[in-house]
Amino acid sequence: MRLSRFFLPTLKETPAEAAIVSHRLMLRAGMVRQESAGIYSWLPLGFRVLKKVEQIVREEQNRAGAIEILMPTIQPADLWRESQRYDAYGDEMLRIKDRNGRELLYGPTNEEMVTSIFKSFCRSYKELPKLLYHIQWKFRDERRPRFGVMRGREFLMKDTYSFDLTKEEAMKSYNRMFVAYMNTFARMGLQAFPMRAETGPIGGDLSHEFIILAENGESKVFCHRDLLDLPAPGLDVDFEGDLQPIVDERTALYAATEDVHDEAAFAKIPDDKKVSARGIEVGQVFYFGTKYSEPMKARVSHPQNGEVPVHMGSYGIGVSRIVGGLIEAFNDDAGIIWPRSVAPFDVGILSMRAGDEATDAACEQIYAGLCKAGLEPLYDDSDDRAGAKFSRMDLIGLPDQIIVGPRGLKDGVVEVKDRATGERVNLSPEAAIDQIIARHQRDIF
Ligand code: ATP
Ligand code: MG
Repeated sequence: MRLSRFFLPTLKETPAEAAIVSHRLMLRAGMVRQESAGIYSWLPLGFRVLKKVEQIVREEQNRAGAIEILMPTIQPADLWRESQRYDAYGDEMLRIKDRNGRELLYGPTNEEMVTSIFKSFCRSYKELPKLLYHIQWKFRDERRPRFGVMRGREFLMKDTYSFDLTKEEAMKSYNRMFVAYMNTFARMGLQAFPMRAETGPIGGDLSHEFIILAENGESKVFCHRDLLDLPAPGLDVDFEGDLQPIVDERTALYAATEDVHDEAAFAKIPDDKKVSARGIEVGQVFYFGTKYSEPMKARVSHPQNGEVPVHMGSYGIGVSRIVGGLIEAFNDDAGIIWPRSVAPFDVGILSMRAGDEATDAACEQIYAGLCKAGLEPLYDDSDDRAGAKFSRMDLIGLPDQIIVGPRGLKDGVVEVKDRATGERVNLSPEAAIDQIIARHQRDIF
């Protein structure tokens, strides 16, 4: 993409309304625009990151055996009356009437709808297990929308729902999602720790939140320090095999959110291993048994016992919240530092003298070479001052920069800068292309 053709409305001033660094940087980098409290337009740069995050989430859901569907944002109120949640959900639910006076709502979550889909088509235990998910906008009329996309009112969520014959089988689905989540966040460069959590309005008796530690996080969490050293299970996990040992290893150490924190259990941890910190909830998994299948009559034939309600779980990831969460995790004074897997472009090409023949030619050569290798460069072909180009490129945080100017080209070199370390090397244009491709291949998995 050439900057001259792109739409990158960066801001010079720090927006006063933004209280935390990720919100400030998202506005300054021209990633989003607020349309109303907690409701955002995603501008091209932000949209590209959102799509990268979404795609990683999708790939790891598919790998774990979940099947993608797409349910609507608008749901009939009657569906929620069946589960008794219509009144219980309270003011967070946006309630709407259509022209015929029919009551609708903008979905805050989809347990009811997916249960209704399941029961219309699945009648036999032979169809189980089933894991269905979608990635769809949700609306929750949050009391305090804040921190930009991290606590929005309209936000993008991946939500999966599992259907099993028994509690034991449901635990296997729970474990699939648990393991998939660890890998999902790791692929984005994030360390997200599973912590025991309250089930809240979703209901049920088993739940973990996945938390990334961050000073500006809204959740207070407590855990054993050794948990922070456990690596993600890895993409070669066999999802058809026994995942229990992996989950056990990651749930053996104390880790809990404030709501379910147990002071007595925490007190037993040696002092130097106690972590009490703030974090951002990027995902949550729930097992809630027959809470919805019972009232909504989602039953299947049992091999021995007639008909039984299915055991269910639900599993959410805050796709749009993660974009803010990533910036909280990866930034410095100059701006954002994207992990390669979620960067809006792979590399920036900065022309130090647009219009100079040798500089233009070298930029074009590098641009074409990177595109040919399947990378997505952003080529700053503008005639802005060098200083403005440097700070803009640092602000938007592409992992690598190639700086091309007449002075270097006289010696046959361009400068390659690593945004994260600030390290710079001079290389020939060909070697610069190879270097960027190699870095990309090293980090993307
Ligand atoms: P919170 O406790 O932060 O209000 P929740 O527990 O109500 O979230 P879930 O129902 O578990 O949310 O939703 C699944 C995921 O969706 C959460 O883990 C979070 O990442 C994301 N999410 C929830 N509410 C919001 C919001 N208002 N804005 C952005 N993302 C959200
Ligand atoms: Mg939650």
